[in-house]
Amino acid sequence: MALIVQKYGGTSVGSVERIQAVADRIIKNRENGHQIVVVVSAMSGETNKLIGLANEINERPAAREMDVLVSTGEQVTIALLSMALHAKGIPAKSYTGTQIKMLTDNAHGKARIMDIQCSNMQKDLEEGNVIVVAGFQGVDECGNITTLGRGGSDTTAVAMAAALKADECQIYTDVDGVYTTDPRIEPKARRLERITFEEMLEMASLGSKVLQIRSVEFAGKYNVPLRVLSSFEESEGAGTLITTEENEMEQAVISGIAFNKDEAQLTISGVPDKPGVASDILGSVTEANIEVDMIVQNVGEDGTTDFTFTVHRNDYDTALELLTRTGETLGAKNVRGDNSIVKISLVGVGMRSHAGIASTMFAALAKEGINILMISTSEIKISVVVAEKYLELGVRTLHSAFGLENDGNLVNL
Ligand code: ADP
Ligand code: ASP
Ligand code: MG
Repeated sequence: MALIVQKYGGTSVGSVERIQAVADRIIKNRENGHQIVVVVSAMSGETNKLIGLANEINERPAAREMDVLVSTGEQVTIALLSMALHAKGIPAKSYTGTQIKMLTDNAHGKARIMDIQCSNMQKDLEEGNVIVVAGFQGVDECGNITTLGRGGSDTTAVAMAAALKADECQIYTDVDGVYTTDPRIEPKARRLERITFEEMLEMASLGSKVLQIRSVEFAGKYNVPLRVLSSFEESEGAGTLITTEENEMEQAVISGIAFNKDEAQLTISGVPDKPGVASDILGSVTEANIEVDMIVQNVGEDGTTDFTFTVHRNDYDTALELLTRTGETLGAKNVRGDNSIVKISLVGVGMRSHAGIASTMFAALAKEGINILMISTSEIKISVVVAEKYLELGVRTLHSAFGLENDGNLVNL
């Protein structure tokens, strides 16, 4: 008998019919002799609806109250799913984050899980219950409700699987696995049988929202076998297994293409170059808690610096205002920004042993007339910033240039 944690995302529980289909799937797994713990998200659209209500009432709602509000979406689903199981004759018990003591720090809206108390749940499982847990939410030491950030139910599921030492954590969603890129952008994208934790972590942090970043971090750290599957198919198939690199003999040079539309770029140019200039430029932006992602600095022949960096698009207006003031103080020639840019990234552990990936990437983009605005690389990824209008063309061009629609780029590690 295996212990399996299954997570069902918003679209998978988006209607009464979908909740009943989830109940049927759980029953089928239970009939195969498995103990099941289920983590669910709010029904699709509910979290956004709650955030909309808050913003209608108050432009800057308190983070604590926001968590009290948005955590209610998941509470609805756990009750409905438990009722659906009861109606089909299966014992089930629902739990909120507070009830299972999903202890987190007190960073409202982006809390981190610190501990989970599983003793009650072990007893319920032994008595034959299906456990239904509200994803995305926790409780801090003082009893305040917290939430884990958008997409956080993935992390709840992995944390539950780690705490219960489950045999597998299965993330059920509206696609049947992790693809070479978002199949909504490139219909020729191919499902991957496997992907390493390291690559999945890069894909997630570079914009692939199929798994929340922290869930992948957690799974890697606690060695939780993690699988992405479809809840929409009668027979779910094998999905994608997130695995450790040691198990791999053969690897693709490029495993996937991620993209991020939440980017904006700012440039300050003609700043007299001297030690400390970078810290002077970024000082007010970082003090305002704005996260800076890519940075390019360049010193011209006239001895002045041009400095470009990217921030989250939500922070664009504030960052531009702050940089304009900095520009006046530093005597810069010009400050400008662009909030219609995107970042496209190639990810693959095979890149470590293969040169020439960057030049193939740049040549493929150039052939389509796509101008590269910024570049950044690490051991297993290359990212470029391009104008937003080139997102689809850029992703599809690279997908085909690296033969991702078939197994074209396999190499021995
Ligand atoms: P859920 O509500 O189940 O958590 P999400 O919307 O968070 O589902 O994640 C699933 C979506 O992730 C898919 O519908 C797909 O559009 C998107 N996605 C982005 N990148 C990828 C990728 N590389 N592979 C598969 N899906 C991806
Ligand atoms: N309901 C939350 C969200 O929409 C958490 C989740 O779905 O994972 O972000
Ligand atoms: Mg999700």
